[in-house]
Parts: sequence; C-alpha cells; structure tokens
Amino acid sequence: MEYTNLGKTGLMVSRLSFGSWITFGNQIGDSVSERLMDMAYEAGVNFFDNAEVYAQGESERVMGQILKKKTWRRDSYLVSSKAFFGAGAEVPTQRGLSRKHLVEACHQALERLELDYLDLYFCHRPDKATPMEETVWTMHNLIQQGKILYWGTSEWSAQEIMEAHMVARQNNLIGPVVEQPQYNMLVRDKIEVEYSQIYKTVGLGTTIWSPLASGLLSGKYLTDQDASARLHRAELGWLAERLLQEEPAKKVKALKGFAEELGVTLPQLAVAWCLKNPNVSTVILGASKPEQLAETLQSASVLPLLTDEVMDALDVLLQNKPVHPPY
Ligand code: NDP
Repeated sequence: MEYTNLGKTGLMVSRLSFGSWITFGNQIGDSVSERLMDMAYEAGVNFFDNAEVYAQGESERVMGQILKKKTWRRDSYLVSSKAFFGAGAEVPTQRGLSRKHLVEACHQALERLELDYLDLYFCHRPDKATPMEETVWTMHNLIQQGKILYWGTSEWSAQEIMEAHMVARQNNLIGPVVEQPQYNMLVRDKIEVEYSQIYKTVGLGTTIWSPLASGLLSGKYLTDQDASARLHRAELGWLAERLLQEEPAKKVKALKGFAEELGVTLPQLAVAWCLKNPNVSTVILGASKPEQLAETLQSASVLPLLTDEVMDALDVLLQNKPVHPPY
C-alpha cells in the first residue's frame, strides 16, 4: 500500500481507503462488515470513511463495535464522520452546518463510533442558510477541543472552499484541508478542472467517492445477473434512474473490452484510473462482498499499464475529457 500526505497536511493517508455508505448497518450483516474492515486494514488501508446519515447512524454504530473488538492501535488508522443531512433528521435543528448541529453531530458520531476523537470531520454539503463564519469557527473550535483533528468539505464548489479559507485567514483559524467529491471515469469536472488551482494555492487534499459509479463501472449491469446489486435496491431507484442509461452502458461495454485487452478486470482498471491522478489523495472503496474488495484492493497493480498512450486511448473511449479554461 502506498501512503501520501493528505494535501499539504502532515497526515499520511493510504491511497486506497474504505467506506460504509449503503452497506454497513443496512445492506450487509455485521460479520461481513467486520470481514471487510479486516481485509482493508490487513492490506494497509488506514482510513475508514463514515457519516451521520449512513443508515441513519447505524453505520457508525457498526463500525464502532468492530473497532472496539480489534487490537488495532488507535494511532494506526483514521476515522471520519460527516455532518449535514442528520442521522434521521426530523426537525430543522438536526441538520445543516450550524454551530448547534455540527457540535451535536460530532458528539453523537463519537458516541456511536465509541471514539475519543475523529481524525477527519466533513461538512457533507454546503449550507447556504448558515454564515460561513459560523461553520469555520465551529470546526476550528472542535479542533481546539481535541474532538476532531482535521476538517474538510464534501461536494463544495471551489468558490465555497476559498470563502472558507478567506474566513479562516481573516480570523487566524484552521481552514478546511480536504474535499470529498465524486470522481470516476464518468464524473470528472470537479477534480480535473474546478479545483485545479486550489490544489496549489491552499494545498487541498481529496478523498474521492464512488470510484466505480456505485458499481456501474464493474460492468455487472451489462448482463444484470446480480439481483442483490446496489442499483436494484428499491430505496435507490433514484440512483438507478440516473445511472442505468444507454449512453453510460455503451461506455462501460467498451471499457470492459478495453480492460480485457489489457489483461485486467474492469473494477481494477476503473480504480487504478482514479489513482493515476496525483490530485487524488485517496480513493474510497466500497464493497458488499469480500471478493469485491479483494479485487479492488489489488488495483494499484494495474498502474504500470496506464501509460500515456493507454490513458489517451481511454480518453478517446470516454469522450468526456474536461476542457480547461484558456488561462
Ligand atoms: P463504488 O462506486 O466503488 O461502489 C461500491 C459498490 O460497487 C459496492 O458496494 C458494490 O455494490 C459494488 N462493487 C464494488 N466492488 C465491486 C466489484 N469488484 N465487482 C462488482 N461490484 C463491485 O463506491 P461507493 O459509491 O460505495 O463509495 C465509496 C465510499 O465513498 C462510500 O462508502 C462512502 O464512504 C463514500 N461516499 C461519499 C459520498 C459523499 O457525498 N461524500 C457519497 C457516496 C459515497 P453491490 O455489491 O451492492 O453491487
């Protein structure tokens, strides 16, 4: 496993990490969750991603129980939580990025995860109804209190991230050091264009999500044999509607052929393609079955095959290479 600095911080993160969205406390049993965490940790993964909203808090509870059973030293791994959507929010104070919700969500996540501090704490989405000053001061104070070590954003625009940095600089506060955006062969703009300046200016690190576009980039939906797969889950009809379309299917079919010619599997090619981008600090893997994780944990072995020629050929196939503005 390779490790890299998370942006300009001193924090070393494994280039492959592991997340629990949809799976822990929901799609899979706790013993499978434990097996997956064991496999990840044994392969050198040091970052486990979570959020208050995953299975409405259950995902954090399951991860906390697993971590408690292990003899892993606390200084050998990182755990995150994210606040914004609430853990089954019923009233307005239970969501958003207000001081009240950020502090309460942090305390609740620590309780569910049975931890003393979070390594990373993300603002899961921007909150236009809360002043930026309130959010930045709150995150800074949580760091001062030792409840979180680093803070970041998820799916914020470059402008919002810079606004947070402006507020932090004006007040001598600690700003966000990491962003968690979607990035995969089908979704490229934020990582490849929008943030391109702020990797340099603020030293932004990234923990990217859905490297397989929720499993679409495994190629399994081309034959549709896996009835238990994510995009067949009733509660994810909205996601299936977005992803199970003719255009992406054509690309996935071509990618599958391409992977076969290279002599690798499509999930490994798709994850390695994300790893190839130096602005990606860590690729967060997801899995519902041990064999899936065993496959994607080997993705770095594909990197030597991703020469400039191969990357160019993939761009021709993908037809979505973002155009950089001419400045
Ligand atoms: P992926 O796009 O990699 O999708 C993972 C899913 O794809 C698995 O659960 C499994 O689903 C299927 N899969 C994985 N490996 C294989 C394989 N080898 N062959 C076939 N199918 C496979 O990642 P996620 O969407 O799960 O995102 C990863 C993590 O990122 C999340 O757990 C979460 O921590 C984070 N995240 C953050 C978000 C944010 O807003 N900040 C949003 C979404 C995710 P199945 O078996 O059910 O088909």
